[in-house]
Amino acid sequence: MRITFWGVRGSIPTPGPETVEIGGNTSCVEVRAGKAILIFDGGTGLRLLGKKLLREMPLQAHIFFSHVHWDHIQGFPFFDPAFVSGNSIHLYGGNNVSRTLEETLAGQMDHPSFPVHLQEMGAKMTFNDLFEGQALEIDAGGGKKARVTTGRGNHPNGVWAYRVEYEGKVVVYATDTEHYAVTDPKLLKLSKGSDVLIYDAQYTPEEYLGTSGAGGPKVGWGHSTFEAAVTLAKAAGAKQLVLFHHDPMQNDASVREKEKRARESFANSIAAYEGLSPEL
Ligand SMILES: [Zn+2]
Ligand SMILES: [Zn+2]
Repeated sequence: MRITFWGVRGSIPTPGPETVEIGGNTSCVEVRAGKAILIFDGGTGLRLLGKKLLREMPLQAHIFFSHVHWDHIQGFPFFDPAFVSGNSIHLYGGNNVSRTLEETLAGQMDHPSFPVHLQEMGAKMTFNDLFEGQALEIDAGGGKKARVTTGRGNHPNGVWAYRVEYEGKVVVYATDTEHYAVTDPKLLKLSKGSDVLIYDAQYTPEEYLGTSGAGGPKVGWGHSTFEAAVTLAKAAGAKQLVLFHHDPMQNDASVREKEKRARESFANSIAAYEGLSPEL
């Protein structure tokens, strides 16, 4: 498998000289499992991934949405392969809020907010509403399958986490989830034995509790700290931890500081940045 990070920021895009090293696009991660194109979230990073995928058409892509907050869907109306007939796009998520995934994605493109309707995009789209613990088998070519298992995190309006297994390797994508006093048993089970654990590390413990940074405590906002990420990585026996969904208030230096502190208790920690592309 190869993982490529196209957007690593939480909440809102943060372009500018202060974030140029980590990147300012919101959540989007590409996982290649054999020939399978798996995409996790459609934040603004999805636009750049779409540009690259134009070289591989006609294509079949599978987009797994953790949830439908803006920072996870806003790149979708700018995903070029979705405008090309002959492409096939499978979309997964929804079913955990009042609207389906299709209704939500169509809603953000309704007039007068966007000039093109979802139905006019061109590619064949198949929407799949998920249920907890579901295991999907995706054709990866050569008679092989990638297996994607769903789990739930803790986030306002709900969130999906995903475990991807292919050829004996495991990647877990768990963003937008808040840790509590004990390690979440569901996420622990989903993350068990992962080679790469991508986890919501939006805050430092001080930012989370409101003892430093702006805006007071962030308890109940649905996000974790790098410390909670390390605790989960250790408990799950993860080989590599990727700190993900950086807070918009954090510039390059503060993300690097967060990474340094995480490494003090879990050496194989890395802060996600745009262009990071590990192979396993
Ligand atoms: Zn988010
Ligand atoms: Zn969210």
